[in-house]
Amino acid sequence: MSSNFETAVIHGGIYGDALTGAVNTPIYQTSTYEQQGLGENRGWEYSRTGNPTRTALEALIAELEGGRHGFAFGSGLAAITTVLSLFAKGDRILISSNVYGGTYRVLDKVFRHFGIEYQIADTTDPDAVEKVFTEDVKAVLIESPANPLLTITDIRKISEIAHEHDALSIVDNTFMTPYLQQPLKLGADIVVHSATKYLGGHSDLVAGLAVVNDDDLAERIGFLQNAEGGIPGPFDSFLLIRGIKTLAVRMDRHVGNAEKIAAFLSENKAVKNIYYPGLPAAQGYEINKAQARNGGAMMSFELYEEYDIRTFFKSLKLVALAESLGGVESLVCHPASMTHASIPFEVRQKVGITEGLIRLSPGIENAEDIIDDLQQAIEKSEARK
Ligand SMILES: *Cc1c(COP(=O)(O)O)cnc(C)c1O
Repeated sequence: MSSNFETAVIHGGIYGDALTGAVNTPIYQTSTYEQQGLGENRGWEYSRTGNPTRTALEALIAELEGGRHGFAFGSGLAAITTVLSLFAKGDRILISSNVYGGTYRVLDKVFRHFGIEYQIADTTDPDAVEKVFTEDVKAVLIESPANPLLTITDIRKISEIAHEHDALSIVDNTFMTPYLQQPLKLGADIVVHSATKYLGGHSDLVAGLAVVNDDDLAERIGFLQNAEGGIPGPFDSFLLIRGIKTLAVRMDRHVGNAEKIAAFLSENKAVKNIYYPGLPAAQGYEINKAQARNGGAMMSFELYEEYDIRTFFKSLKLVALAESLGGVESLVCHPASMTHASIPFEVRQKVGITEGLIRLSPGIENAEDIIDDLQQAIEKSEARK
């Protein structure tokens, strides 16, 4: 157990390969394992149930989140779906008002058909959460910062409220990663990740993770992981371990770039609104400071009406227009038509996901190059109108 995070990303979990001394856990590209006799095996039977490369990844994420049990999945949504399978007909889940679009979709279009209800709550306001708590609420599922307006929820307070009502506190920690925020230490019961984003970090894989402390909860999630089968393959497990090794250095650069870009956008006359938890004027700034290392790297902004956003997106040269976030390359997206398109228009308007909103995931390129690209695209989008 390495206590310093920068060391734990490299030496944590299961380090190397005991059989050969290889410093990297090998890619155990196998579906099955030869058994010595009936009922006799070396601890491995079938790779849906367990695979050494995946096990190394699971041990690593558990250590990084400060939890006892880690689980890996084929995508963030597979992790979320598996966790939501803990609930039964008649249960209700409270969710943040701007939760990831896919999380909303699986609750609305899949789980509702099985009798598991959801309710959208303003989790930035603990009193509002307390008010909507009914007997059937069995969990609160939050993101902080939440996608795409980067709203901050007090993880400690919401977890306390959940526990007073015998409900679970579930935190999607994708935007922060355990380097910047460790929800289990703030009282959450389950942490989930889209490891596709910062943990993988190179836009070359899709994966999900979940971490818990409680042994019973771990047993139930382990059962569901095997029963539902949403696991990652050995190669993606290996790639994710490899990505995580550089998490601390990458995040430092992502955040450093984000701070410079946020300062640039804040002072830009074309920018109507900016949402970045690292700015003192941001909603929840003090709460975020108390529960996370810094404001993270994700931000969203709106240009004034005289700037044409289609031209803005078309004019970008370095920054790519793409779904996803958290990769080494800078990405922008248009939440209303891309990541949050599955949320109905009226709901989007109500929570502030306007047609003019732009989400930016700064990469780890030179900050001035990113800023120059944004600047020239802003200029072009004004000229054309
Ligand atoms: C991307 C994302 C997900 C879904 O993860 P996938 O790996 O795409 O399935 C869930 N939550 C958040 C916050 C995300 O950004």
